[in-house]
Amino acid sequence: MKNNKYFLLAGAFKILAVIIFLAFAANAQNTVIKVGHLFDARSGKMLDNQIIIVENGKIKEVGANLKFNKTDKIIDLSDSYVLPGLMDCHVHITTNLSYRARDWNDKYLTESNALRAIRGSVVAGQFLDNGFTTIKDIGNDGNYATADVIKAIKKGWIQGPTIIYAGKIIAPYGGQSGGINPENEHFWDFEFIDADTPDEIKKAVRKNIYYGATVIKMVTGDNGIYDAEDIKAAVDEAKKYGMKVTVHVLNEGLAADNVISSGAAAIEHGHSLNDQELQLMKDKGMFLVGTDFSYDNWFAYGFDEKTSRKRTDVVVDRLKRAYKIGTKMAFGTDIVIDLPGMNRVGSSLKVLESWNAAKIPPSYILQTMTVNSAELLGLEKSKGVLEKSFDADIIALKNNPLENIENVKTVRFVMKEGKVVRQD
Ligand SMILES: [Zn+2]
Repeated sequence: MKNNKYFLLAGAFKILAVIIFLAFAANAQNTVIKVGHLFDARSGKMLDNQIIIVENGKIKEVGANLKFNKTDKIIDLSDSYVLPGLMDCHVHITTNLSYRARDWNDKYLTESNALRAIRGSVVAGQFLDNGFTTIKDIGNDGNYATADVIKAIKKGWIQGPTIIYAGKIIAPYGGQSGGINPENEHFWDFEFIDADTPDEIKKAVRKNIYYGATVIKMVTGDNGIYDAEDIKAAVDEAKKYGMKVTVHVLNEGLAADNVISSGAAAIEHGHSLNDQELQLMKDKGMFLVGTDFSYDNWFAYGFDEKTSRKRTDVVVDRLKRAYKIGTKMAFGTDIVIDLPGMNRVGSSLKVLESWNAAKIPPSYILQTMTVNSAELLGLEKSKGVLEKSFDADIIALKNNPLENIENVKTVRFVMKEGKVVRQD
C-alpha cells in the first residue's frame, strides 16, 4: 500500500514536470530577425527576404517564409544587408605607436602592462562595435596583457569580440628589436620569447599556452631565419593541444620558403612573395594573411611619400597575383598606428584601399573577412557563416557591400552569440 502511494505520487510529479516544461517551452522567447538581404558567405551572393531564428545564442533556422511564435522578439532588418560577424586575423589591440614615429622601444619602457590592457579593452570594444565579432590578436601585447582583456570580456566586465590569442611572439634571438646595445640584452623580453632551437621553441609554445594562448605566432627573417625544422617543432607541439602556428615573414626568399615547407597554417604579411611561393601555399592549403597597408598606413609609420607609394604598390601587386593564383586568403590588417581623427577600426579598414586597387571583387573580400577567416582560426564549425547551429554572430550594414566594399563601414547592428550589442 505504502509502495503504491509512493508510485502514484512519483507519477503525479512526473506529469507535473512535463506540464511545466511544455508551458515553459511554449513561452520560450526566440529572437526572429527579418532580413532584407543576407550574405551567403559560401557562395558570395546576397539572398533576399530571409528570416533568421536565434535561440540560446545560436542560429536555430535560416530561410524564407519561416514560421515563428507570436511571443518571439522581432528584429526588423528588412532594409539592411546582413552578414556573418566580420573577422580580422591580424590585430594588436594593446599596442599603439605614435603617428610617424615608430617608437616601439620608447613604448616598451613607458607603457606598463596595466596601461596596455586598458588600451586593449578600449580597442576590443571598437572592433565589436564596428562589426568585428572575432579577432586574432597575435603578440606585441607586453607581458600577456591581452590575456587579461580576454578574461574581462569573459567575466562580462567589458564587451568585446571573441579573441584568438597568441601570447608572446616566439622569435630568434632579439625578438623584433634592432639596434639594442649588449648592456640592455633581453630588453625585448617584455614582448618576445627568444627561442633558437627546437627544444627552446617547444618550451616557448608550452609557456604561451600556459598563459592563455590559443594560436602560436612566430617571427622569422627579421633577426635571424628559422629552419623549416624549427617551425615544424612548433607546429608539432601546438598540434598536441589542437592549435595552429602562424608565422610572420615579410618578403620572398629563404625565410618564406622555410615557413612554406614547415606545415604552418599561415604566413602573416608576405608582402613580396613570388608566384612560385604563392603557388606552393595554394597547393598546401596554406593561408596568406596579407596585412595589405594602404598608402596612409605606410605613411603613418614615418616613411616618406615615395617609399610609402612604393610599398603600397608592392602589396597591391602581391594581392593581385595571390588572387589570380588562388592562394587562400584571410583578412588581416595589422594596424598599430591610429590615423589622425580615426579610431583603430577606421585606421585598419584603410587596407581596403589596397584590395580595391588590386581589383579584388567585394564578394571575395567579404569571404576573406568571414568564412575564410573562420577556417584559418579553426572556427569553421561555429562561426563565419549564417547557417543552422552556428553561433549567432550577426551584423547589419546600411548599404550594399557587394556594390562597394567600403560599405562595410556602414554598420548599424551587431549581435554577438545571440546578444545585441549595437542597434542604431
Ligand atoms: Zn603584426
